[in-house]
Amino acid sequence: MKKILIAGGAGYIGSICSEYMLNLGYEVTVLDGLFTGHRDAVDLRAEFVHADLADREKIFDICRKGEFDAVMHFAAFSLVGESMNVPSKYFRNNLCNAINLADAAVETGVKAFVFSSTAATFGIPETMPISESTAQKPINPYGESKLCFEKVLHWYSQIHGLKYAALRYFNAAGASELHGEDHRPESHLIPIILQTLRGKRDKLMIFGDDYDTPDGSCIRDYIHILDLAQAHEKALYAPESGCYNLGTGNGLSVKEIISAAEEVTGKKVNFEVAPRRAGDPPRLIACSELARKKLNWQPRHESAHDIIESAWKWHLKFPDGYEK
Ligand code: UDP
Repeated sequence: MKKILIAGGAGYIGSICSEYMLNLGYEVTVLDGLFTGHRDAVDLRAEFVHADLADREKIFDICRKGEFDAVMHFAAFSLVGESMNVPSKYFRNNLCNAINLADAAVETGVKAFVFSSTAATFGIPETMPISESTAQKPINPYGESKLCFEKVLHWYSQIHGLKYAALRYFNAAGASELHGEDHRPESHLIPIILQTLRGKRDKLMIFGDDYDTPDGSCIRDYIHILDLAQAHEKALYAPESGCYNLGTGNGLSVKEIISAAEEVTGKKVNFEVAPRRAGDPPRLIACSELARKKLNWQPRHESAHDIIESAWKWHLKFPDGYEK
């Protein structure tokens, strides 16, 4: 494996995976439509191609010219709330456009296809932690669109022999030295807490403190972005196709994340309790034993403090994110 195409390499997770792969000596081409990503998030060592996955001919052309060994596919829309209002945007891009990329990968003999999937494919699971055998019943079009594409990959591997790994991220968070999280608008907990601490927002709204959890706020499994990047590289060498849940196995509540952020930064978070956010399951925790065993994945940053500290450093270094 040498030449890697990273679709969505201008986004949060894609940019950090590009950096990680480049640091290991891979040749990286980033393909991005820049709908939600940032041109400045593309690592300077990568080749950049501005293209929309909807443009089937162009995607085939890029794959033919690039002769890639592997494709990593991060280029998707990921706002649960938006998906409940405009499902067509999600099925069109996250499913139909992704099929263009998978078809081009098959046609050009790509040896491994790594797909960004999500814990949202599980919906509200009946058992915790969530393993690969837990039933997948998404409760929003975002999760459903990702699950549909997992199924496409399953059949492409059966029929065309395309080897794939679908990596189901739990709550990706943190930053590398160079790249971090800059969504517009921002909806994720940790960057919102950090923006509040920097005075860029008045306060954090805690979405519900009446859940059936010890402190009443939602519990999530926060996983360091560099550990996710490591899993992508390992997935290139998986012995066979498969799906893997990626988390730490530790659940932290919104209130515990606030306390950890206060400890890391030495500042108090101004917050207020607001109503529950639609579509939020009370608790999502991964069992990642399969990834550890089959991919030889070894996450290194298991504490929330590590994750928050890396994100805080990035926020202080780039106070306006990718905006010049
Ligand atoms: N959350 C919150 N206030 C915010 C943003 C998020 O209380 O401003 C909560 C949200 O309800 C969830 C957790 O923080 O329980 C993580 O949310 P995030 O949007 O970061 O990730 P998700 O779990 O939705 O993928």
